Amino acid sequence: MKDKGKDLEKFARKMSKEISGRVEERALMKRYTSFRIGGICELMVFPKNREDLALVVEMCENQGLAWKILGRGSNLLVSDQGVDEVLINLQEGFKGVESGGKGLVKAEAGVRLAHLVKLCQDEGLSGLEFCAGIPGTVGGGLKMNAGAEGSEIKKVVTRVEFHRYPEGVYSRRQKELRFEYRSLELREREIILGAEFELRESDPREIRARILEYLRSRRQTQPIQWPSAGSVFKNPPGKYAGKIIEELGLKGHRSGDAQISELHANFIINRGRAKATQVLELIELIREKALREKGIRLETEIEVIGRENG
Ligand SMILES: Cc1cc2nc3c(=O)[nH]c(=O)nc-3n(C[C@H](O)[C@H](O)[C@H](O)COP(=O)(O)OP(=O)(O)OC[C@H]3O[C@@H](n4cnc5c(N)ncnc54)[C@H](O)[C@@H]3O)c2cc1C
Repeated sequence: MKDKGKDLEKFARKMSKEISGRVEERALMKRYTSFRIGGICELMVFPKNREDLALVVEMCENQGLAWKILGRGSNLLVSDQGVDEVLINLQEGFKGVESGGKGLVKAEAGVRLAHLVKLCQDEGLSGLEFCAGIPGTVGGGLKMNAGAEGSEIKKVVTRVEFHRYPEGVYSRRQKELRFEYRSLELREREIILGAEFELRESDPREIRARILEYLRSRRQTQPIQWPSAGSVFKNPPGKYAGKIIEELGLKGHRSGDAQISELHANFIINRGRAKATQVLELIELIREKALREKGIRLETEIEVIGRENG
């Protein structure tokens, strides 16, 4: 174990020298997730550009280290025991956005959805307003096929650019991609570099009004003042997970500082020092009760990552 730690330190030093981006050892995952939960990630890397990213992936592959892309961590529950994988964070290098006229907007994977929404509003481009209030990145939004207000990312994206080890960079048109409810199927090792969106020209004041209305509705229906990872479960076909959980009488139920929200039962909130184990306990309780009392199998929308608790 000690040797493994030493090897990783050496690897981190080597990576620091070879890339122009930043390397963070023993990153505290609480700081990188909207849940404010999670142990330590031994190595988090922030590639500055595509060359850096290709090098980071190649070095991890050569070293036999598993890696994973991290967006804003707004759909993740990270183990209290931390993460073994090297986490590759695109938020410091992949921040480019450009509007190319005729309603086309290109954004890199690390761009915050909130930033993209604002830019589109200012440019008078409509179609992404539903992303207002979704606290993720373009990459995470695409991977999750983020959606709200009856829309989803797959409806406005026209092309996605990828990097995949070892073949490099390529792009695919929307039609060639397999989007589903809250997911985009990626091949193993496939990284989203950015995407192109096709939007409609519209009056910025109307766009702004829609955004404000969506944000107002979120404030009223979601516990956004507390750390969370958004909806915990996917809605089963034709039903709402929140309503099911409410009918099970679980609103407000707690395990330590983790609580099933009183406002929106499909949110679990962190009231201070919640542990991943406590959130998982609530998830299990909901699942088990939904199956036993209603015959419904609830599937999680949030992704649980990291070392097994034990
Ligand atoms: C208060 C709140 C409200 C929310 N509301 C909504 C909502 O209305 N609708 C909705 O759909 N979601 C919602 N979410 C969930 C979440 O914000 C979205 O799923 C978001 O798209 C996740 O983006 P992220 O950048 O945080 O991704 P992360 O959580 O960091 O990652 C999610 C997954 O995407 C992968 N990934 C990220 N970037 C890349 C990349 N560049 N290439 C390949 N894989 C990548 C990660 O490896 C991981 O598997 C909400 C969350 C919160 C906390």
